[in-house]
Amino acid sequence: MIKIKSTAELDRMRVSCRMAATVRDAVAKAIKPGVTTLELDEYAQELIAKMGAKSAFYGYRGFPGHICVSVNDEVVHGIPSQRIVRLGDILSVDFGVTYDGFVGDTATTVMVGVTDPDVIRLITVTEKALTAAIEQAVVGNRLSDISHAVETVATAAGMGIVRDFVGHGIGRKMHEDPQIPNFGRPGRGPKLRAGMTFALEPMLNLGTEEVEVMSDGWTVLTKDRRPSAHFEHTVAIAEGQAEILTVAEK
Ligand code: MG
Repeated sequence: MIKIKSTAELDRMRVSCRMAATVRDAVAKAIKPGVTTLELDEYAQELIAKMGAKSAFYGYRGFPGHICVSVNDEVVHGIPSQRIVRLGDILSVDFGVTYDGFVGDTATTVMVGVTDPDVIRLITVTEKALTAAIEQAVVGNRLSDISHAVETVATAAGMGIVRDFVGHGIGRKMHEDPQIPNFGRPGRGPKLRAGMTFALEPMLNLGTEEVEVMSDGWTVLTKDRRPSAHFEHTVAIAEGQAEILTVAEK
């Protein structure tokens, strides 16, 4: 069952999502050579506390960080650590907030002085795939139209599409129905209706689509150790154009 949010519920989600986006952007800005991923986590923790909100990730199935920070060949679920950010790295920062009973989930990938054209292209294509997904998140389409849009962009660019991790419904819980793969044939699955809220999150690899989980039980790596990028927005289905909820306060 895909939940339809009432107007009041959507208003509450707008708030939690705005918080998530604000923290995402602040952490992204703080990424520079020499900082550790744990320092980024501590910064996020401080910002969330100031907002009176909670990290939806901290303690989730035992996850030890407030944010996920995944570096280079790490796809998702990287644990903040003493790892030092270096010039040429890419960092995906994934972050969820719970506030007033609703969750907002968002991610971005930041380049740290990257000059490798392939890596720049990976980032550009992944962001473009998210935009294409959001364009399909409208009333009248079917769920797999979103999936197909990501696949089309990724395949045209020759990127590996991570299949083991997917987008998802979101609301009172971080992970609600349905699952939203980043590949698939169009025109399938449930019809999209106003008030559905989804976390859309293409994860694309420069090389193989295959991934593996590290011995820490969390960090997902590309099998060929080539880089991976991840962008995510929480959106609300609407007529004509989806509403991106994870937009930061101006
Ligand atoms: Mg998510």
